[in-house]
Amino acid sequence: MSTNRRDFIKFVVAGAASAGCPIDLSLIAAPSGGANSSAEVDGEQNRICHQVRDQGSNSFARPSPSARHDVVIVGGGVSGLAAAYRLPQRDFLLLEKEPHWGGNAYEMEYAGSVYATGSAFLTRDEYAYHFAKEIGLTPLPVNSSDASIIHGELVVDTWGAGLDKLPYSASVREGFKKFRKEMTAIDVEKRGRELAQKAFVDFLKGYPPELKLWWDNFGPSNWGATSETSNAGLAIGSLQEMVEESRTDDRYTWPGGLGAITKKLADLLLPKHKQRMQTGATTVAVVSEKEEVQVTYLLGGELKTVAAKAVIMASPKFITRRIVEGLPEKQSDAMKQIRYIPYPVVNLIFDQPVFNHGYDTWCPGNTFTDFVVADWVIEKRPAYKQKCNIISCYTPMKEEDRGYLLNEIGCRKIAANVLNDFQKLMPGMKVDPIEVHIYRRGHPLYMSTPGLYTETQPLARHPMDRVFFANTDSEGPESTTNTGILAAQRAVQQVEARLAGKPLAKEHAIAG
Ligand SMILES: Cc1cc2nc3c(=O)[nH]c(=O)nc-3n(C[C@H](O)[C@H](O)[C@H](O)COP(=O)(O)OP(=O)(O)OC[C@H]3O[C@@H](n4cnc5c(N)ncnc54)[C@H](O)[C@@H]3O)c2cc1C
Repeated sequence: MSTNRRDFIKFVVAGAASAGCPIDLSLIAAPSGGANSSAEVDGEQNRICHQVRDQGSNSFARPSPSARHDVVIVGGGVSGLAAAYRLPQRDFLLLEKEPHWGGNAYEMEYAGSVYATGSAFLTRDEYAYHFAKEIGLTPLPVNSSDASIIHGELVVDTWGAGLDKLPYSASVREGFKKFRKEMTAIDVEKRGRELAQKAFVDFLKGYPPELKLWWDNFGPSNWGATSETSNAGLAIGSLQEMVEESRTDDRYTWPGGLGAITKKLADLLLPKHKQRMQTGATTVAVVSEKEEVQVTYLLGGELKTVAAKAVIMASPKFITRRIVEGLPEKQSDAMKQIRYIPYPVVNLIFDQPVFNHGYDTWCPGNTFTDFVVADWVIEKRPAYKQKCNIISCYTPMKEEDRGYLLNEIGCRKIAANVLNDFQKLMPGMKVDPIEVHIYRRGHPLYMSTPGLYTETQPLARHPMDRVFFANTDSEGPESTTNTGILAAQRAVQQVEARLAGKPLAKEHAIAG
């Protein structure tokens, strides 16, 4: 496609420009005597970002509490929304910094067709499946074994029958098969703790480099880490699931992915609790006093403080550790150890069918790792007519490349590279989309590094008197909508116990 033709395609950039910032700085008024007036914010986001990061919540003059609540919940992703949903009898206040609910499980729409900007699917054995049903959603079966596109060829059911058809030499194919055999023989449950502390790359030694390339594509998409930085148990467990999936696929979703869950939660909560659910509200300080916790947030340029009997932090830990005052050093250090990758999702919107061969297709060696057909789970309905073929390209990036997401030119470039690579995948895919949407996020997915699940996360989620920690990054072993919901339920139980003056339930031991 010529540069001129590309200029006719509309590129839409969504998601906060301050994707890497702990706080939406464009909303912050200058602290007294400070040099960072709001007029300077444009173009100087990094400098101010770092200033806030370094000075912490002390740089805000906190007003006295203007209201009191039972529970304040910080963060309106699936975890914060689920916490609110589980506290119907409580006077809660839910604060979300973005102008919309959903966090990393957020769906968008193009001319009536829904697409995902993040979280894609859940599995039937996850609690989230039952939770979705409880809130009135019917999970739709994916029923598709994942394919890969390698050297221009579509290989259906990569880890099942597809292994015999990989377009590699016979010895490389044998390497893939030997690996599958050896990995499926491992008892992941029994060796849980040991494997969670090992790096997956050790298990790839002696195998062809093509195998490592495949996993260095799959890992970052699913749990943010390449084979060098992956928890080995997670990777081996995933392979076992894929082998199983090639027989029966237990994945479920909706058009637009798991954003359907956060949308439904917001739709259920808003009619009753609108006054106690605030978007565009950035929490800047959480300070424990003797009998209460004071939460200060910025709303429309104004700082407000509310007092609460308890607080649930459903924001990610890289932000949480900067706004909760008085965290024990060890806990703050544990939160700091959690690493997050930058991870935009690029949606290619076609007004004609381009690819409808499978739900999730893996593409090692490209700018993006895999792509999902947005309406796959309803495509085969007899009365359904596809208006747009929307392809969600998952584009995890290296930590050091995060800066590209900070400006529109960087984002446009990423989106253009994704489009280029997509069009070169297979004959027949060189079609121009009508629009290309990129949803940028600077730190959405934590990396499932060795030791994170067994050592770091238990420390990071430890309750701090009246402050409790939700968000998927409290739980592990990988970032999922499911663990976001489970973290919320655990935090709600802890809040109820604390408010009833009961001792907290003991943590469950980690498998292994
Ligand atoms: C590209 C991608 C694909 C994924 N695919 C899947 C998948 O297929 N299946 C799956 O189960 N999971 C998937 N995940 C993971 C899943 O999306 C997340 O684990 C889940 O959405 C996390 O929800 P959460 O509420 O714990 O955190 P978040 O979604 O991070 O929500 C935290 C919220 O807190 C808000 N916040 C932060 N700071 C403040 C503040 N100071 N004041 C107020 N609000 C604040 C944020 O804006 C955000 O809305 C994927 C993630 C990504 C990025």
